[in-house]
Amino acid sequence: MDYIDPHIHMVSRVTDDYLTLSQMGCVAVSEPAFWAGFDRSSVDGFRDYFRQLTDFEPKRAAAYGIQHYTWLCINAKEAENVSLAREVIAMIPEFLDRPGVLGIGEIGLNKNTKNEAIVFLEHLDLAAKTNELILIHTPHLEDKYAGTRMILDMLCDDSRLDRDRVLVDHVEEHTVADVLDRGFWAGMTLYPTSKCTPERAANMVEIYGAERLLVNSAGDWGPSKPTAVPDFIFEMRRRGHPDSLIRRVVYENPLHFFAQSKRFNFIPRDGQQSADG
Ligand SMILES: [Zn+2]
Repeated sequence: MDYIDPHIHMVSRVTDDYLTLSQMGCVAVSEPAFWAGFDRSSVDGFRDYFRQLTDFEPKRAAAYGIQHYTWLCINAKEAENVSLAREVIAMIPEFLDRPGVLGIGEIGLNKNTKNEAIVFLEHLDLAAKTNELILIHTPHLEDKYAGTRMILDMLCDDSRLDRDRVLVDHVEEHTVADVLDRGFWAGMTLYPTSKCTPERAANMVEIYGAERLLVNSAGDWGPSKPTAVPDFIFEMRRRGHPDSLIRRVVYENPLHFFAQSKRFNFIPRDGQQSADG
């Protein structure tokens, strides 16, 4: 089954992973800007990273028939350096007209600190002023519930933002309902050690339905599995769910959300019908 991985950090993967993803049915990936494994020391470090995301990775993906899209920001882990964060936010517009840039992300909170909230709000302001889509990172483990509530409150407080143009990632059982109820899209991250498993994601689709729900692999520096979305497809089939329902979650939903960006120039494979008919 053709699928899209809406949140995967391909800069941390080897080229062989692109081959495997392609063989498993992946036709497009979207790669949010994130932490490099170390704190970058200057705005030029981010400028080079954004060049990698907008120039080099799309070519590496295209060699395996995969369309590559991306998101730009300074992530929450590096937000304690507020002055550097402001330099990065001021530099982002240099890249906003590049092909394949879908919006601002992944922004959010990590440890729910005051500086993280300041930098998050300044990203929201940039997204509102430039009319960009937003991709949200929610905190892990014990920080997740409070952090997700903080993020949703800040989003809802900004009347300029259209909730249908915001995707909130890394939802779990205790946060997914709040995200969907408030009108946002929700992403479940399939991860071996935390976040969500394919089985738990299938449970959430059974409970909440497929509307505005996506699955991704994260595929980052940590222990992660870039082919986690096919694992979800397998689990859904094992439970007897029809391909039409599975396809909605792994293909049509990301297509609908991303299509709100004018730089999402997705070309369906031959014989595949696009979600828009
Ligand atoms: Zn991420």
